[in-house]
Amino acid sequence: MRSVREGAFKKMRFLSLFVIPFLVASGVAFGEVPEGFEQTLMQGSLYLGKTAPGHKVFYKEQLVMQTAEGDFVIGFGRDAELEQSYIVETPNGQRTTYVLQLAPRDYKIQHIEGVAGKYVTPPESRLLRIKNDNRQIAEARANRTPRNDFLDGFLQPVDGPITGVYGSQRYFNGKPRRPHYGLDYAAPVGTPVLSPAAGKVVLAHTDMYFSGGTLIVDHGMGITSSFLHLSKLLVKRGDIVQQGQPVAEVGATGRVTGAHLDWRINWGSVRLDPELIMRDYPVGSEPESESVLSP
Ligand SMILES: [Zn+2]
Repeated sequence: MRSVREGAFKKMRFLSLFVIPFLVASGVAFGEVPEGFEQTLMQGSLYLGKTAPGHKVFYKEQLVMQTAEGDFVIGFGRDAELEQSYIVETPNGQRTTYVLQLAPRDYKIQHIEGVAGKYVTPPESRLLRIKNDNRQIAEARANRTPRNDFLDGFLQPVDGPITGVYGSQRYFNGKPRRPHYGLDYAAPVGTPVLSPAAGKVVLAHTDMYFSGGTLIVDHGMGITSSFLHLSKLLVKRGDIVQQGQPVAEVGATGRVTGAHLDWRINWGSVRLDPELIMRDYPVGSEPESESVLSP
């Protein structure tokens, strides 16, 4: 069983090194595969591509935003379909479909005991507040701005042992709940949280029901970082922050069993894996975009 799975994974890994040009009715096109492109795309990954000026990119029939240089990103969620595709349209209307193969993930199961009952099943009287929190978070993440801060890579926002990973299926006091989408670092209350990349603060809230002190930074093209359970916010909405700048302090606010930072990365509403993003977009090395310059 195990060897079959591993074999399948290796095959996926191999396939994922390439953008596979797809035959379309209008003709045949070949995507250029740059040498040295080593990103293994998988569920939770952020894909970086590049087109020529004037070309449009569509994913799931939506126009994908590009930087002035033609860089664009597509994010894949925890349970994304393994075969993905996007379309590049030339200025004269010729469309080419590019197929991406994602490697599947195995997610952990995490049992958390000692969670206060009001956070496992919130009382009716809090539902309006929770709905309002969720609306503000969704609005902040729906931003699509032409910033390209993400191209400088992502640094780890806080020092500390990892106590929770992306994708794990969670049980609170034995009750199954939504998967965990953040990367948790245990750290004492008051530890500075550094912005992993430059950006613009799009949400700064001191007291949300589940996430307590909450900060969201827009890194451009729909990519945002969210920081949860903060004890203190050092910036306000609208502020421009630099990579490595202290933006908040670790806390134990909202639904927590101890002080920690919960860091999330989104592409719009799609939740990505911060560990993969740090691996694929390290600070100090130009990220390799896949060139898909159509003929
Ligand atoms: Zn967490």
